[in-house]
Amino acid sequence: MERGFEYVIVGGGVAAGYAALEFTKRGVSHAQLCIISEEPVAPYERPTLSKKFLHPESPARLPSFHTCVGANEELLTPTWYEEHGIELVLGTRVESVDVGQKTLLTASGETIRYETLIIATGAKALKLEEFGVKGSEAENVCYLRDLADADRLVNVMQSCTGGNAVVIGGGYIAMECAASLVTNKLNVTMVFPEAHCMPRLFTPKIASYYEDYYQSKGVKFIRGTILSSFEFDSNGKVTAVNLRDGSQIPADMVVVGIGIRPNTSLFEGQLTMEKGGIKVNGKLQTSNDSVYAVGDVAVFPVDLCGRIRRLEHVDSARKTAKHVAAVIMEPEKTGEFKYLPLFYSKAFSFSWRFYGDNAGEVVHFGDYLGTKFGAYWINNGHLVGSFLEGGTEDEFEAIANATQLKPAVDDLAEVGRQGLNFAMTG
Ligand code: FAD
Ligand code: NDP
Repeated sequence: MERGFEYVIVGGGVAAGYAALEFTKRGVSHAQLCIISEEPVAPYERPTLSKKFLHPESPARLPSFHTCVGANEELLTPTWYEEHGIELVLGTRVESVDVGQKTLLTASGETIRYETLIIATGAKALKLEEFGVKGSEAENVCYLRDLADADRLVNVMQSCTGGNAVVIGGGYIAMECAASLVTNKLNVTMVFPEAHCMPRLFTPKIASYYEDYYQSKGVKFIRGTILSSFEFDSNGKVTAVNLRDGSQIPADMVVVGIGIRPNTSLFEGQLTMEKGGIKVNGKLQTSNDSVYAVGDVAVFPVDLCGRIRRLEHVDSARKTAKHVAAVIMEPEKTGEFKYLPLFYSKAFSFSWRFYGDNAGEVVHFGDYLGTKFGAYWINNGHLVGSFLEGGTEDEFEAIANATQLKPAVDDLAEVGRQGLNFAMTG
């Protein structure tokens, strides 16, 4: 079977959902746009999976978190795609793409032709096997990337109430899952190789605030070592975790969050790659004129940082997706993609945001014994990054605006003294 569309999006995650909405806002006609997704459900807000989806009380379930509710926009249910004449091919993996011929082949044996292709294939979780540890297939070892993983995690978690959970990793998945596991009444131990959690973004001072809070909730931290092997029972279930430092931790379940790898393999050898992703220009166009890339796979120029970056965060997936629809539908009216990176997380009662680039020297401000504090990153005499915990919408907006402006900073100590006022009044 063979059919063709003007626009095809390969991948049906966050970016695909936001692109679809923008395409319709810009007047895409019925039967012009097709989205092909390996997942069996319409695009949804992936961040919900490590937060409200895991709540013990009134957990979030589809259809409540389809895109684009995360940005306070319309809820795009499967009916919405039907009504807007967007072909949603679900549960179907794209097996190969020929960018020269402008065709792709799906796992169901269908060939689909396109005029313009948008790559939105996201990423896959790194497996322990890549680090030489066997056991990812055990029934009580969980990863968290998609809805199927989240369903499985909930089932395993509910079967282990009161038991021991070991969380491998010290990044986003680990921090958010550890909080959810504690809330679901498991005893949680986090294991990671670095000296503190969230090492790529947090300073030791910021990390120590969150680690203290997690410890007050019962989470144990084992830092500076990694998993070396699992102990299994006769059914192949993991019963304990062996660490490289020689210690052993009993485990009724294990959650692994050790990073991701972008899904670029369909395009290796066909498009220019850099930094592990697909390189695009300011119009999000790849090295092939008819092919664009957005979301976790895209490596794009970020002026504020003065370099190209691949960002693994939902705000950049939403905004690159919206921009690509504008570039394609209204090329004359649409300029280059200008982006201020935003990372955020929520767990327990915390809520922080980081805007910009965490380069240069850091000035901490606010009450690190209370609930509102932050930090500024100053690089080459200019503010380039801002972190704030516990801010109001106005305060978050103020640090975003200040970071965007990149004001000159001569006196770091003075900025520290002014704290949030530096952004609010600047
Ligand atoms: P994805 O949303 O991953 O979508 C990619 C889609 O492509 C998937 O449906 C996949 O199945 C499909 N696909 C891949 N290959 C193929 C193929 N060959 N054929 C067909 N389909 C294919 N970011 C934040 O900023 N804040 C958060 O709080 C946050 N929380 C998160 C929580 C979790 C549990 C996870 C996993 C991520 C979280 N993120 C968060 C990151 C954010 O969700 C991602 O940056 C975002 O989803 C990227 O969007 P995307 O569309 O590029 O990829
Ligand atoms: P991260 O890259 O955030 O964190 C991975 C962590 O695991 C790092 O601390 C890493 O250390 C550590 N690690 C690596 N290898 C090992 C190992 N063998 N043993 C123990 N620890 C190890 O990835 P996550 O898996 O947490 O998140 C996956 C994706 O989901 C990311 O794209 C993330 O952005 C996204 N996400 C975002 C959220 C948010 O923005 N709020 C929430 C949840 C997920 P090192 O740095 O030394 O490699």
